[in-house]
Amino acid sequence: MKRIALIGCTGSIGRQTADVVRRYPDLFCFSALACGRAGEELAALCREFSPRYALCAEGEFTPPPGTARVERGEEGQLFADCDVALIAASGFAGLRYTLLAARAGVRIALANKESLVCGGELVLREAAKSGAELVPVDSEHSAIFQCLHFHRDAPFERLVLTASGGPFLHCTKEELAHMTAADALRHPTWKMGAKITVDSATLLNKGYEVIEAHRLYGAPFERIEAVVHPESIVHSLVLFADGAALAQLGYPDMRVPIQLALTYPERLPCERPLNLVQVGKLTFLPLPEEKFPCYSLAVGAGRAGGTLPAVLNAAAEEAVYAFLAGRIAFPAIAHTIGDALSAFPREEADSFERLAAADARARAYAHKLIYGKSAS
Ligand code: MG
Repeated sequence: MKRIALIGCTGSIGRQTADVVRRYPDLFCFSALACGRAGEELAALCREFSPRYALCAEGEFTPPPGTARVERGEEGQLFADCDVALIAASGFAGLRYTLLAARAGVRIALANKESLVCGGELVLREAAKSGAELVPVDSEHSAIFQCLHFHRDAPFERLVLTASGGPFLHCTKEELAHMTAADALRHPTWKMGAKITVDSATLLNKGYEVIEAHRLYGAPFERIEAVVHPESIVHSLVLFADGAALAQLGYPDMRVPIQLALTYPERLPCERPLNLVQVGKLTFLPLPEEKFPCYSLAVGAGRAGGTLPAVLNAAAEEAVYAFLAGRIAFPAIAHTIGDALSAFPREEADSFERLAAADARARAYAHKLIYGKSAS
């Protein structure tokens, strides 16, 4: 029985993880469940899965009998009694949990992008110290992991990340200026949370994935590229020295990489097998970087390193939530991020406190840009 500490149990990845556990109740159980905001869903999950620990980061929560409530400041407890920590919390908030899981030395199934984007250096350092194993959940990085036969340090020539291109792939710059949150939330192939769906429409998400690939596979940035693949069947490729390329294919369904992160190198039956004849054709297009500046902003911040990816991310979180609330137009997301990046110099990202300070400063700056006043 694998004991899973699931952080972010009420989000999109969290719910699909619960589906995987329901499918294999003899193989998996939850030792801990955590989520951001109080609500009935966490209580219902606790009643269903009887975890030993539960945490709700904001608001009041009384767990059912048999489950102990973890207090703020005691979050390390969540990983005291688990085999795998699945970090599915979204945003910069996920980094703290990833670092705690890394210190606990458990296998980390990582679905939170910001952990490696903002805190990659720290996370890798802590994991190396404790021996914690880092396993990607994101479909692209899971594909690369599979193509490398589950060896993150295996040699390769290049990594090619595929991108669906999001809902605005064929929009002109003029049309982009008028796109609303409802338009951005209509993703053509993947069903995900609102923040990442907008990040997919701006291609910021693909920029994040380049940084994650750099961290996970030690790839220099010039050996990582992204191509548009609207069908989302090829989840990524690895090119090798002899010109051979390996790719991983499948229908877009996050339960496959979630399950694999829990069981690899073993594979368990999952959803429907791929039928290539039914898919018909697979197409690939260059990434339209000039139309979607968030991609280059992210890769540029990744290359610069230090605290700049945290600045990028903080500005992006503020801007995307403002866009979702109808407060700013679609192109303003990239403008906010660009302005924040030029406002802050690079600093070393040598501690969580430094990253958190950079995050807070950039967030306040972006908030003021967007709303014209400081956050109250
Ligand atoms: Mg992805």
